Amino acid sequence: MSFCTTCGHITIEQMPLGDHRIRQVCPNCGTIHYINPKVICGALALWENKVLLCRRAIEPRYGLWTLPAGYMELNETMEQGAARETREEAEAEVHIEQLYCMYNIPRIGQIYVLFKSDIIDGQFGAGEETIESRLFEEHEIPWNELAFPSVERTLRHYFEDRRNNCYPLHLETLGSRLDQTG
Ligand code: ZN
Repeated sequence: MSFCTTCGHITIEQMPLGDHRIRQVCPNCGTIHYINPKVICGALALWENKVLLCRRAIEPRYGLWTLPAGYMELNETMEQGAARETREEAEAEVHIEQLYCMYNIPRIGQIYVLFKSDIIDGQFGAGEETIESRLFEEHEIPWNELAFPSVERTLRHYFEDRRNNCYPLHLETLGSRLDQTG
């Protein structure tokens, strides 16, 4: 059961006139409650050729390593979102260098946007949602302890691109993991 965020009435499932999907519709005030994909912004944050990863202090995937990333907020740009999440989760200030990876995850209605970034002063720490953060060289990456497929994809792209010294935008669609979140 869900409620109308406009008037508080119980909503019904209905296909609005001219629409092609079932929506939550309020029979009292007529508001159609659309649910659309969410954007998750994050950073591939680098310092002296090493990658910053955070060990998650929250579910899902508690204790596994991830890139600093999270839901984009209203009134911010994607770049600001990526920098904010890096500040919150890893206590690091980054200079956003370029748009690097975009992942559609249609099964769960998410879009990941990751920016290749430089840590400004080499300083980092552990925010509220992080047990610890660390810089990793390629051979140190805990491949079996990464939190999400998007993290592994991004790291594999980075180390391969680094060998070619060329960092094109990677736009991909990832599979059906139900628990992919920021
Ligand atoms: Zn209503």
